[in-house]
Amino acid sequence: MSAHSGKTKIVALRGILKRLDSNSLSLEARLALDKALGYVDDLAELLNSSEEQSRLGALYHVSMALGTSLNLDEVLTQVMDAVIGLTRAERGLLVLVDRDASTWQMRAARNFAKKDLRPDEMNFSRTVINTVIRNGQGIVTTDAQRDPRFAQRQSVVAMALRSILCAPLLVRGQVGGVIYVENRIQTNLFNQADLELLNTFAAQAAIAIENARLYTRTDHALRQRVTDLENLAQIDRQLNERLDLAHVLEFTRNWALRGTQADQVWIVFPNGVGQAEETLIYPSDEPGFNLDDALIVSALAQGKPQFASTDQKSAERLAVPLMQSGEVLGLIVAQRSAPFSKTALQFLERLAGRAAPAIENARLFQDVQKANQAKTKFISVVTHELRIPMTSIKGYTDLLRQQAVGPINEQQLNFLNVVRGNVDRMSALVADLSDISRIEAGRLKLECRSLSIEKYISEALRNLRPKISEKSQTLEVELPPDLPLVYADANRLVQVLNNLVSNAWKYSPGGGTIRLKALSDSEFVRLEVSDNGIGISEEDQVHLFSQFFRSEDPIVREEQGWGLGLNVSKHLVELMGGTIGVHSTHQVGSTFWFTLPIAEQET
Ligand code: ADP
Repeated sequence: MSAHSGKTKIVALRGILKRLDSNSLSLEARLALDKALGYVDDLAELLNSSEEQSRLGALYHVSMALGTSLNLDEVLTQVMDAVIGLTRAERGLLVLVDRDASTWQMRAARNFAKKDLRPDEMNFSRTVINTVIRNGQGIVTTDAQRDPRFAQRQSVVAMALRSILCAPLLVRGQVGGVIYVENRIQTNLFNQADLELLNTFAAQAAIAIENARLYTRTDHALRQRVTDLENLAQIDRQLNERLDLAHVLEFTRNWALRGTQADQVWIVFPNGVGQAEETLIYPSDEPGFNLDDALIVSALAQGKPQFASTDQKSAERLAVPLMQSGEVLGLIVAQRSAPFSKTALQFLERLAGRAAPAIENARLFQDVQKANQAKTKFISVVTHELRIPMTSIKGYTDLLRQQAVGPINEQQLNFLNVVRGNVDRMSALVADLSDISRIEAGRLKLECRSLSIEKYISEALRNLRPKISEKSQTLEVELPPDLPLVYADANRLVQVLNNLVSNAWKYSPGGGTIRLKALSDSEFVRLEVSDNGIGISEEDQVHLFSQFFRSEDPIVREEQGWGLGLNVSKHLVELMGGTIGVHSTHQVGSTFWFTLPIAEQET
């Protein structure tokens, strides 16, 4: 038996007992009747309090479930289930107020037929909902049609007799939504106690819904922020991928178009980029503005973003400065057929902040490249010009030394030998320099073929063996018997080997050991030249293989050299498809190694 039907029966019983009361009753009967009426009152009270208890129990139960989820849809479903359970309503719905638009939207419903929910023919009372939203107070009405508050209102009148219960979802005193339930009158009537229950529940539901709403909003904002950061990281990566000005400008422009939904974007450098002082506008085709337009002038002068309208209706132009070390390098100018949003401006400012250093780096790189090209050109001219006179100095010195043009005395021969030695040194330098200039200009041609290393090792060592013995050094060569053929340029292989072994000889004391070893794997043959000489400090190892590097060690400085051999060797090894490296311990010794690709087997 529900509390409701129990109550009705008690009221009916009371009525029956009252009707029995008359003067004709005996005193005994009257006393018994009074007692019976007293019991009925006790019973009614008991029923009321147990009803209250069960309501509170139910409320406690459903409230427990709230707040376990932060997903708005889940929370709304929980609330709707709880409301129907608590009020035993036939149908119910929940609306949320859209604060910005001051409208409301239905977000959950139970037991309404689909057609009832169409906004234009909703079969529930909009008037009741609007009243609760307006007043922030719950409503219980038994017969909305006769209720003076709603009579004549279309949505109420159109409905059959209904008992409606409607409570606000209050968040910090503001109505964030409404819970609405209804019953047909013959099924059940709502009373004040039901409204109180719904109000109490609505207060808790409102908090759970607000938390989920906030969370969803924060979650959305966070996702947006993460996307922004991902985009920025991608921008950074792409901008710094290549130190090429055209590439940087193209990427900046593409991102500007994408991030601001602009129709057109130009990147403008009124005073050029770096040393090139002529104005640069990218892309050059039809910039829709002049450099003396107020927008450009003031953005450049102030170093701050500026907006301007254009001749076309509602179109807008935005200029954002590219700043580097407090100076305006140039501008990103974007144009759109509708005004730019605040987010678009923020995006463009962030993009400009990243593009400016990338442009500056690309520019510096361009300058360095230009300087390098000039150096390569210079070396190429000088080496070419030196080679011809050197050849003739060499030739005439040899003729004199051989006494082909007349007898010479011993002192003259000694002098001529010194001249010849120095010319050899000079021609070695010129050869290295000319290799470098050809490598840098991409003009060095290799003649690679399959070859056996053993033969060329012997060739490389031929000139060095006497020098090594002169210094009482030991030369050990360890070659495995089945060393595969390599694919290399024979002369260049000899040059690299010669350089490494001659360094080992130069930078090791008399009596030391120089070891040349070869090993191979499935792809490469590796050649190692080890010595137990002066070694190379970790500090110096960083600079090895770069042009003109020589250690400050006095032993190094006593030896002849220009610090070009390793640099040339590195280029040559790499051009042949291998790699070069070193292991060295200062004052213990060094092992220089390089690899060469194994020649493909002939089939
Ligand atoms: P160079 O020998 O003409 O100076 P390299 O390019 O061949 O030029 O070598 C550069 C520098 O590397 C040398 O000046 C020396 O400081 C260091 N170096 C090269 N080989 C060795 C070695 N085997 N042991 C110690 N230092 C070496």
